[in-house]
Amino acid sequence: MIYLDHAATTPLDPAALQAMLPWLQGEVGNPASDHAWGHAARAAVERARGQVAALLGAQPEEIVWTSGATESNNLAIKGALEFRGLRGAHLVTARTEHKSVVDSVRQMESQGLRVSWLKPDAQGLIMVEQVLAALAPDTALVSLMWVNNETGTINPVEALAPRLRERGILFHVDAVQAAGKLPIDLSRAPIDLLSLSAHKLYGPQGIGALFVRKRPRARLSPQLHGGGHEQGMRSGTLPTHQIAGFGEACRVAGERLAEEGARLAALRDHLQQRLQQVLPGLHLNGHPQDRVPGILNLSFEGVEGESLRASLGDLAVSSGSACSSATREPSYVLRALGRDDELAGASLRFSLGRGTTAAEVDRAAARVIEAVGALRGIAGAGSA
Ligand code: PLP
Repeated sequence: MIYLDHAATTPLDPAALQAMLPWLQGEVGNPASDHAWGHAARAAVERARGQVAALLGAQPEEIVWTSGATESNNLAIKGALEFRGLRGAHLVTARTEHKSVVDSVRQMESQGLRVSWLKPDAQGLIMVEQVLAALAPDTALVSLMWVNNETGTINPVEALAPRLRERGILFHVDAVQAAGKLPIDLSRAPIDLLSLSAHKLYGPQGIGALFVRKRPRARLSPQLHGGGHEQGMRSGTLPTHQIAGFGEACRVAGERLAEEGARLAALRDHLQQRLQQVLPGLHLNGHPQDRVPGILNLSFEGVEGESLRASLGDLAVSSGSACSSATREPSYVLRALGRDDELAGASLRFSLGRGTTAAEVDRAAARVIEAVGALRGIAGAGSA
């Protein structure tokens, strides 16, 4: 098995597992309880909060725990708009956002929100000037992802943030595919709300966070009501084991960021060159430079997407994102970049990670070359 699907989910880091184990084996205590057991759990939660904040250049009290980035994105978008009572206001976002943003926005749109859905350029980029041009006098929120999960393209969110701040417009960033891959410093970038997911950076599944800026304060209406946890923004008993694992995963990701980024970029470039040397008719989906190190998305001319994926054997890659590939529709992200249905359908996303070796990349390249060659041979024979 060659696992090149790290943008879908990553294996648990051993240090994260170690941080989780005591809370799964014997330790007991609700972090909200006022006794020694509760205090110990609370201490673990607060330590992790500091670790997540440190990865972002944020303050610990700006981190709100959620069940994952789907919830973080829902809370940021619906929570910010509902708090301001601006359901009939205006929002700017992009067509290439993750489904959890797209569908949260659509939900608000059905209740009267006006939305500008920006179209990216052919390489998946949303430009600063394009966002500014879409603003209206009543724009309440801009939601733009830092890194696209399918193409790896990096949007200029750090350049955009001060331009929105000076206009008093709230800025939400889905940073799921950026955190632990790119340096993030929220003490410098005036982003108001930022979503994270642990399982994309070698933490456990089912835990995420929303950064909610304190100064100036970004205010949200809660989407889950109950015991008033997380400063009233997100009720529910905190899962100490998952939070401890998430925190530790962030610590490790921060330590390894630069070195791992350089290693993955070299492996990714090698994979791309190897495929391009041998196979004609390849199209890069995404930006050739402005992309994260670990993601390579290619479309293959003259093959049928479903057959291509079926012939890859034990090579784990994605077409589209894991969440939307259940629908078996050509990726809406690649369609937004201008790819036709055929090329959008015949695409593979390779996402490399910590465990990926040069030998695996070579084997993966050989497998794809063989599969594409065989399918093109069949297609050629059929049309002759
Ligand atoms: N945003 C992006 C860019 C993602 O890649 C994902 C995961 O696929 C999510 C949000 C949702 O994250 P989670 O799985 O934590 O709900």
